Amino acid sequence: MQYISTRGGMSKINFKDTVFEGLAPDGGLIVPERIPELSEKEIKELRKLNYQELALKIFKYFVSDIKEEELKEIIEKAYKTFRVKEITPIVKAGNVYILELFHGPTWAFKDIALQFLGVLLEKLLLETNKKINIIGATSGDTGSAAIYGVRGKKNIAIFILHPYKKISEIQALMMTTVTDSNVYNLAIEGTFDDCQAIVKTLFVDLEFKRKYRLTTVNSINWARIMAQMIYYFWSYFRVSEIENCESVRISVPTGNFGNIFAGYLVRKMLGKKRIERLILATNENDILCRFVNNGDYSLKEVKSTISPSMDIQVASNFERYLYYFYKEDAQKTKKIMERFAKEKVLKFTKNEIKEIQEDFFSASVNQEEILKTIKDFYKKTGYILDPHTAVGVRAGLKFKKNYPLICLATAHPAKFPDTVSEALGFSIKLPKEIERLYNLPQNFEILPADVEKTKTFISQKAI
Ligand SMILES: *Cc1c(COP(=O)(O)O)cnc(C)c1O
Repeated sequence: MQYISTRGGMSKINFKDTVFEGLAPDGGLIVPERIPELSEKEIKELRKLNYQELALKIFKYFVSDIKEEELKEIIEKAYKTFRVKEITPIVKAGNVYILELFHGPTWAFKDIALQFLGVLLEKLLLETNKKINIIGATSGDTGSAAIYGVRGKKNIAIFILHPYKKISEIQALMMTTVTDSNVYNLAIEGTFDDCQAIVKTLFVDLEFKRKYRLTTVNSINWARIMAQMIYYFWSYFRVSEIENCESVRISVPTGNFGNIFAGYLVRKMLGKKRIERLILATNENDILCRFVNNGDYSLKEVKSTISPSMDIQVASNFERYLYYFYKEDAQKTKKIMERFAKEKVLKFTKNEIKEIQEDFFSASVNQEEILKTIKDFYKKTGYILDPHTAVGVRAGLKFKKNYPLICLATAHPAKFPDTVSEALGFSIKLPKEIERLYNLPQNFEILPADVEKTKTFISQKAI
């Protein structure tokens, strides 16, 4: 399999090359040159596999430049850090199948992609004797998942900027208690926007970027998307067996459109009748919901909510969907994305909306509804949802109809104990692994919100 750009301006590259690339050089996103549609026979074979075997089989469709034996080793190593054997277990709560994606080291779904990416990066770097420095800004989940992905890995150092004392205590502890010598937590005396602005400036400084071989591991990375495809297959197979049915609906709490885009690809591979609809659930940052329901993709201010990992307006993977929506017409995708960059708004016609709604149903869930959903769902089923998962459950139930419903649980409730306890009216118990973090030594450096100071620090510590 080779890879191309959604805007058509990149010569084909191999899988390995996609691992170190964010954007394609023409400003587009990287996609496989084709998405295989599986035969009945292939699907039947896939049903029998465990999570890691399934990952190997699916990755093989997309990776032709890594030997099967090596790919297998990478997968085995990546998922060793998970606390449960099934990797992503399914729990039935009321009339909903909860697909738990939070059994990795940082208790949220980003581990599934970043544990894989970390092992993969180390392997490819050792092969070519290269070193990289990963730089990122975080307001919570992504930073800790990236740190756990590469902690202790050879030929990689990671610098994660977070706003000092402005993220939740648990989220900060998950990063700062990692004491491996290749991990640098920079607590910036400023806001998340300050952190992001600093990182952006570093990457625009091409000389600095090249000199220190700066890399990101953000959500547009193709290997991350690919790793996220596996649990869609996995959950479809399990639930269709239990229900003895062909069709399911899957609800996905969405921010950057990364998770749900993986589901969209799986739906292409399995056939639309199997994943009958994807339910795109947003919080009050509802640009994607407005897109699906009214054909209105227009930028608004980002609002801070109690489901912070979905507080996003411009969804960085959205262009990949548009590319397929326009039947892989790269010229059209390019034109539309350039228009959006200029005008900050896209409008879709009635017919287009109808077509979009063949793929997705969508609802936006406000904060009051999130709290109420956590409370009501617990009362009814005894299952405690985190605020992000609650967005997905609420939207999912709206569109369940007679289909078996799978709701992706993207974080463990203990990651957001204040919100969840407020909703339930009692304090939830933290797992012992999280409780422990409060007593561990910490590793972080406080820096002013200043580009030059950050540069100096990185240049001293970079590998
Ligand atoms: C990142 C994240 C999301 C959103 O995922 P996208 O791929 O950005 O759509 C949802 N929930 C949690 C807990 C997350 O960390």
